[in-house]
Amino acid sequence: MDATQPTLGIDLNRLLWERLAGDLGTIFDAHGVCAASSLAIATTADTMTLVAISDTDQNHFDVWICDSDGKIEQDRWPGDEPAFSRIMESSGPNLYEKVEAPHKERLQSDLWILASESVLAVPLPFPMAPGQITPPGAICLVDPPKSCPVDKRSVGPIAIQVSAFLERALLRQRSDQQEVEFGIISEISTSLTSTLHLEEIIVQVTDAVRRVLGAESLTIGLTEPNRSEIVFVEALMGPAFNDMPPVSFQIGQGIAGWVALHGEPAIVNDAYADHRFSSKVDRDTGFLTNSVLCVPLKIEQRVIGVLEAINKHNGRFDENDSRLLQAMSGPLAIAIENALLHSDVLAEKRRIETIFTSMSDGLMTTNVRGTITATNEALLTLLGAENSELSGKTVTTTIKTQPDNFSVFFEQVLHGDHELPQLAGDLLHKNGDYVPVLISGTTINKEDGSVDEMIFVFSDLNQIREVERMRDDFFNNIVHELRTPLATILMYARLLREGKAIDDPARANRFLGVIERESDRLQKMVRQMLQLAKLESDAHQRQSETTNINHLFEQIVPPLADRAREKGLVFLEVVQPRLPDVKGSEDTLYMIIKNLIENGIKFTPTGSVSVEAWLQDKFVRVEVADEGIGIPKEALPNLFQRFYRTRSAVERGIAGTGLGLYMVKEGLEINGGTIDVTSQEGKGTRFTVNLPVAENTIQAS
Ligand code: ADP
Repeated sequence: MDATQPTLGIDLNRLLWERLAGDLGTIFDAHGVCAASSLAIATTADTMTLVAISDTDQNHFDVWICDSDGKIEQDRWPGDEPAFSRIMESSGPNLYEKVEAPHKERLQSDLWILASESVLAVPLPFPMAPGQITPPGAICLVDPPKSCPVDKRSVGPIAIQVSAFLERALLRQRSDQQEVEFGIISEISTSLTSTLHLEEIIVQVTDAVRRVLGAESLTIGLTEPNRSEIVFVEALMGPAFNDMPPVSFQIGQGIAGWVALHGEPAIVNDAYADHRFSSKVDRDTGFLTNSVLCVPLKIEQRVIGVLEAINKHNGRFDENDSRLLQAMSGPLAIAIENALLHSDVLAEKRRIETIFTSMSDGLMTTNVRGTITATNEALLTLLGAENSELSGKTVTTTIKTQPDNFSVFFEQVLHGDHELPQLAGDLLHKNGDYVPVLISGTTINKEDGSVDEMIFVFSDLNQIREVERMRDDFFNNIVHELRTPLATILMYARLLREGKAIDDPARANRFLGVIERESDRLQKMVRQMLQLAKLESDAHQRQSETTNINHLFEQIVPPLADRAREKGLVFLEVVQPRLPDVKGSEDTLYMIIKNLIENGIKFTPTGSVSVEAWLQDKFVRVEVADEGIGIPKEALPNLFQRFYRTRSAVERGIAGTGLGLYMVKEGLEINGGTIDVTSQEGKGTRFTVNLPVAENTIQAS
């Protein structure tokens, strides 16, 4: 019997060796290798065998326990299983006797519940080799009989074989996972190139990558070019950040700031233990950051932002995760940069289009052959033409001037003969009239300096002359207005001194009354001029004052109502009580409302003048309406221009400077207010003013 024992042992060991090679050869996952090995060893050696392997973070062991009949069970044991600790610290196979095990280990160990006497155990991987990726584990034969063919000597080579298969399975698992990850990356990269919308890019990337990484959140921070800051894209921050101002870090501050500054990735598995981590965002939101993986978004060597994964669900962020995120960051950075450039280009295009269409001067672009590529509304008006009559036509057939030298001018501009080429002449309108214009032209050059397009500006000299006429009118007007009261004052003063009026108290009183009234008028005009100068200088400063509108009406309305009634007019006032304060200084608002009511009274010979004020949305709306002389339709566009007075007002000899409404509009614009006018000649006029309610009043109400 003694002689056959070792032979049987050797045969069984060879058999086991072959079974392991055969069974494990086709198994490519680590758990499968554990299960198959425990089955092979237990049934060949006729002894309960368990094979255990820990998870990557060593939080627990997955254990496969197979009894000698081949009945296999899987269990999960805690990562600090005491008997395993001793086995794994050992350098090789050992027979562990239960009686010799430390008391505490015996009580707390799952292994000693299974074994009643001894355990033959070998650590996995065995032997430990540098760079091995297999996590710690063990092969244990429970209560092996003395005759067990697998003994302390033969269990070592078996463990070596199992370790090799485990390593192979884990490598395969890792490469399979990488294949999946890089598959996702290449899919995302391809789809990134198909969109230029930042939001779409972000949605496409973040969810897929977050899931592959197994992270709680994935965010993108973009560097603000002028403020040396990283601002996180709000849409990605999750519900904890809904009511928060955008999260931002100075470059160099926090982990994201560190990554942006150094242009290198950071793997931080215990955020609070890392000196770079800033806990401010956690404190503000109640979010708890445990682990962070942050990589820079780079275009060549320039960091345009960071991609940050937070809180890995199972385990720790590792080099593999970092590689994955970095692989993603390249195409993502390019897509973001393209999207930002695209939106910049769109914004620039819109800006230029707005300038082009809203210019009061006529504008036209052409190519070098003189084909018209674009025109604005003002030019169409000057020519009396439709866009379709000009677009795609040549300038020589469409732009007719007197003298007929536009084509010569075109060539001058094209060849850059003069520094600032200009042509003064008359432009032919479709109706046969000629409009005096000043035409300027310039070339738009390509990068290589050759001419790409040309742009021509047509200034309507009629308009310029009109402005000049208005300015001259104003000065004449002012001089006239100043001269008339001065002459009257002078005349009455002389009459008083030279004549006998001084001895006649009644006449003297009358003369002094005239002098007083004319001085008042003079004073008012000078005051208005000063007010205007002040308003124009104030317009450059930010206005922060607010005004109580009810109080203002109490001051303004009574004397004006008296004046209206003295003139025989009906005066109506409907002001909503307790209106909120509005933006703007009291002086400016006083001037605005007083001017409108005064005009109403001044331009209404008979009938009524009314003023109403009420709250509408975030504005106090004030309406001043009268049944006066009205304003001719053609005068309405010019009404708010400086010095403008309607001919009808001048002809009726109604005194004024044409400055009031200009000041009203200026005063409103400083504070974000608006004014509208509707009028019918001979029927009356209605001015509608919207005054923005002051911010603090909106919050309080
Ligand atoms: P001023 O009243 O000193 O002439 P404004 O700038 O206040 O200057 O008004 C400009 C012009 O607008 C007036 O000259 C008048 O022709 C016209 N206008 C203003 N308000 C009214 C009104 N309520 N009814 C008729 N015309 C008005």
